[in-house]
Amino acid sequence: MDEAGKPSAGRFSGREDTADPAGEATLRRNRTLVNEQKGWLESLAKPSIAHMSVDPAQLRIVTWPHPVLLQGSEPVDPADENVRAVARRMLELMREADGVGLAAPQVALPWRLFVTHAPEIDPVDRVFINPELKLGRGELITEEEGCLSLPGINVQVRRPDEAEITAVNLEGQSVTRSASGMLARIWQHESDHLNGVVLVHKMNPMDRLATRKTLKELKAAVSE
Ligand SMILES: [Zn+2]
Repeated sequence: MDEAGKPSAGRFSGREDTADPAGEATLRRNRTLVNEQKGWLESLAKPSIAHMSVDPAQLRIVTWPHPVLLQGSEPVDPADENVRAVARRMLELMREADGVGLAAPQVALPWRLFVTHAPEIDPVDRVFINPELKLGRGELITEEEGCLSLPGINVQVRRPDEAEITAVNLEGQSVTRSASGMLARIWQHESDHLNGVVLVHKMNPMDRLATRKTLKELKAAVSE
């Protein structure tokens, strides 16, 4: 932002020195430019985490309010062997934790990737890389949901009963599926994770009151 109240021509005509003998405004502006460039250079030097190689064996499920759970995720390359290895490890972690779905932000990776395995309704290991979700326009249904990143918390969440999802699978194929009921709900819950949305955001004031103690404990555990 430019300093207010200066004739804008002054900046280019050299008349600024008379209006600002000490050249303070110019110095301030130069410092800002230098800082901006520094930030830009740093961002170039630091590869985005979406393109960093990750050791799948190091992955653990993180709990709210871990910062990665609350930020958005970036698309990943489905052909990248590291991405596929992470997906396979996420399937293991989900199974160990008795979950039906697990999204990459839940293992502290801001990647657009989630996995599911829902006994009875879809008992197959499925990997969704860069998923695109379309919500049905029909009925909204309220059901209780839990989350591996919010242990001890259940929230009634209202969602469209039907959804359609297109994603790349572990074999690199783009697959479109549609579902209703529980499976459509799982896709919506996991897609929320990729957008930094968790059950805490779905709570009404009563839920917040009822879960206040548990949330406080979770917060304390993350900041330890
Ligand atoms: Zn969850």
